[in-house]
Amino acid sequence: MKPYLKRAWAEVSLSQLKKNVGLIKQLNSDNTEVMAVVKADAYGHGYEKVCCCLAEECGIKFFAVSNLDEAISVRGFCPSAEILILGYTPPEYAHEISQYNIIQGVVSTDYAKALCEKSKEKIRCHVKIDTGMGRIGLKHDTPLSCAEEIAALCKIEGLSIEGIYTHFSVADSDNPDNIRYTDAQEKFITDTYDTLVEMGIRLPHMHFMNSAATCYRNNPRSTLSRAGIIIYGLHPDYSLAIPEGLEPVMELKAVISQVKTVSKGDCISYGRTFVADREMSIATVTIGYADGYSRLLSSKGEILVHGKRCRIIGRVCMDQLMIDVTDAEAESGDIVTLIGRDGDDRITADELAALYGTIGYEVVCGISKRVPRIYVD
Ligand SMILES: *Cc1c(COP(=O)(O)O)cnc(C)c1O
Repeated sequence: MKPYLKRAWAEVSLSQLKKNVGLIKQLNSDNTEVMAVVKADAYGHGYEKVCCCLAEECGIKFFAVSNLDEAISVRGFCPSAEILILGYTPPEYAHEISQYNIIQGVVSTDYAKALCEKSKEKIRCHVKIDTGMGRIGLKHDTPLSCAEEIAALCKIEGLSIEGIYTHFSVADSDNPDNIRYTDAQEKFITDTYDTLVEMGIRLPHMHFMNSAATCYRNNPRSTLSRAGIIIYGLHPDYSLAIPEGLEPVMELKAVISQVKTVSKGDCISYGRTFVADREMSIATVTIGYADGYSRLLSSKGEILVHGKRCRIIGRVCMDQLMIDVTDAEAESGDIVTLIGRDGDDRITADELAALYGTIGYEVVCGISKRVPRIYVD
C-alpha cells in the first residue's frame, strides 16, 4: 500500500470487485458478456485500477463510459478493450473516436451524418433506441419504422453499425405495472432486431440489460449486460435484494482529531442546531462535505467507532464533523468508518443514501477527488 495522508480515504477492495464480477458472469447466460460500466471514474472507485483489474484479472473485454475523455482514459488503461461511449460526443471530435478505436452511441440519423461529415475514417457505433427512458435515442411508434431508420443508417458510408441498444428506466422495480413497462421496452428492441434480421441485417450486438435487469430479469437475447452498480456491490434499487455474495467494494474512513467533554448547554457546530442536554463526550472527525460526505447527513448519519454506531451531532462542516462518543471508546488518532464494516456492524452507501433521499450511486460518485483511493488485497 502506497503512503497516503491518513485524513479521509476510500479503501477499494479489488478482490471483492473480482468476486462481484464472477457472480455477475454466473447470472448471465453463455450468450451474454459483461460490459463493465466504468463511467464517472468507475462510480467513484477510480477507473485506472478498476479497469486494469477488470481487463487483466476478470477477462472483461467490453467497457462503457459516458464521454470521450473517459473513453480515451480507458483506452490508455486497456489497449485492446472495446469501449462504448453511452452519451454524447460533439461531432467535431469524430476523428478522435476513430483514432482511439472507440464505439460511439448514435442517437439519431442527423447525429450519425454529422459524425461522418467530420471524420475521414469509419465511425464504429451502436445505435441507441429510446424505448421508454425518454432520454436519448431513436424514437419510433413501431419496431418496423425503427428498423427502417436503422436499415437506412446502415447504408451510410462512413458508419459501421455493430449493434443496437436501449436503456430500461424501471427494471429495478417489482411493481406489476413497472414490470409490464420494462417488458414492453424489451419487446420493442427485440422486435426491432428481429425485423432487421428479416431485412437481411444481422447485427453482432443487441443489449438492454443494466444491473437491475441482470439481477431480476436476465435475458439471453442481450449480448451484453451493461453492469454498473452491481460490479461495485451496491443495489440498483435499495428495496430489492441483490444476489447473495455481491458486496460493496468501497469503504470510507477518516480519523478522530480530538475528543472533548462538553457540558449541558454547550453548542456544537454551525448554526447551533445541537445543544447538549447533559455532559457528553464529543469527537471531531476529519471528513466533511468537501470530501463528498453530504451535509444533508447533519444530525442524521452514524459512524462506526470501534464497531459501535455514533451519531453525527450538529451540522457537517466542509472538512470536519462531530459525533457523540459518550458511549464509545474514542481517542485522537482512532480510525472511524463512515462506509464499510467495523466489527459486527456495517454502514453501506445504500443505507447512507436512504437517509438523505438519494441512491448509493450518488454517494459513491460523490466522494470527492480530495479523498485518495487506496487499493487493498
Ligand atoms: C449508467 C448506465 C448503465 C449502468 O447502470 P447500472 O444501473 O449502474 O447498472 C447502463 N446503461 C446505460 C445507458 C447507462 O447510462
